[in-house]
Amino acid sequence: MKYYSTNRKAPLATLEEAVKRGLAPDRGLYMPERIVRLPEEFFRDMGEMDFHEIAFAAASAFFGEDIPSGDLKDIVCDTLNFDTPVVNIHDNIWALELYHGPTLAFKDVGGRFMARMLSYFVRQEKTDRKTTVIVATSGDTGSAVANGFLGVEGIDVIVLYPSGKVSEIQEKQFTTLGQNITALEVDGNFDDCQRLVKSAFMDEDLGRTMTLTSANSINVARFLPQAFYYFNAYAQLKRAGHDSNIVFCVPSGNFGNITAGLFAWRMGLPVRRFIAANNRNDVFLEYLKTGEYTPRASVRTIANAMDVGDPSNFARILDLYGNSATLIRQDIAGCRYTDEEIGRTISSLYDKYGYLADPHGACGYQGLTDLLSDGETGIFLETAHPAKFKDTVEKIIGKPVEIPERLKDFMKKEKKSIKMTNRFEDFKEYLESRR
Ligand SMILES: *Cc1c(COP(=O)(O)O)cnc(C)c1O
Repeated sequence: MKYYSTNRKAPLATLEEAVKRGLAPDRGLYMPERIVRLPEEFFRDMGEMDFHEIAFAAASAFFGEDIPSGDLKDIVCDTLNFDTPVVNIHDNIWALELYHGPTLAFKDVGGRFMARMLSYFVRQEKTDRKTTVIVATSGDTGSAVANGFLGVEGIDVIVLYPSGKVSEIQEKQFTTLGQNITALEVDGNFDDCQRLVKSAFMDEDLGRTMTLTSANSINVARFLPQAFYYFNAYAQLKRAGHDSNIVFCVPSGNFGNITAGLFAWRMGLPVRRFIAANNRNDVFLEYLKTGEYTPRASVRTIANAMDVGDPSNFARILDLYGNSATLIRQDIAGCRYTDEEIGRTISSLYDKYGYLADPHGACGYQGLTDLLSDGETGIFLETAHPAKFKDTVEKIIGKPVEIPERLKDFMKKEKKSIKMTNRFEDFKEYLESRR
């Protein structure tokens, strides 16, 4: 399978090239040149299949031509060492809980899958050169990527983060790991971290002597595996006898998660439609209303993983729909919620149904409550564990939030980081010292 760029000014890439590059040379996003429809029997029999079997079938449709099935199966099974249960909230509304992985957020699926796929390609090369993944984070990406790559053969990871600007819980999740993970604590802000990473990729000396890779969220190996749990959700509802007229509501920031769902739909998953739930960063909703896409600076909200003013995967959605706002509107509805509204949703969901949602999942639930029609079955994606947003959620419900053991384990460990200025010369010297 070849991959083309959404800007269509770059040559087709192999899977290996697309995964190693992340972004295409024309700065577009890679798309698989075909979306394979899975056979009717697959959907008919899915109720009897487990998550690994379902995910392997979906993975084979994309990666089966490029990775031998035994290796692909290992990658899939090793990635999915946790479940994605669907739980009923009330009536026809269900939550797809994506927070049962190591860092308690859905990004674990893509992070773990990409790490294992990259490791597979590095092993194929049989060189002695180590591949170094460098990633800048404002909090959550760093933990999903670092934990995804932890202990993965042939790959070192360097996480750059702005000193004093990430929460303690977030910081612990990438500074306590050890092994092949190094955390650089940059004296600067997130933009400085991103600039250092970009400069490293453009630096010719480093390019000659090191193999550097990014692990950002637009990478096809991080984004496509997110389709797996849409299939798994359907299988669970099929077993429960509620598999008709399914509507997925996806709390969206960079729109990678919802785009993976649209891919699952094109592969034949029986879905009625999608809803994209936003916080006050609602450029997508504006686009649905006006047909004009106007990116703007993001504003801070309590659902901060969705504070995105120019969603990177919007280019993929446009590409899927041939740039037609009319066609996009037929398949995807939108909604947006203020912090006050998100707070009210978390409270009422907790008081009425005893379900504690995080601020992102709450947007998803409210989207279904507001937009679901009679006869539809709604699933919202619960994208993170509420304990990841402990302070916010405790303020809203007025009660302490229980921290799961996995998160407590991180908190107990000692933070280890290397201090770094925000000057590229210093960062470069550090990278060279590791060769
Ligand atoms: C990243 C993230 C989102 C947004 O997902 P996109 O794929 O960027 O749309 C939503 N919720 C949580 C908790 C996240 O970490």
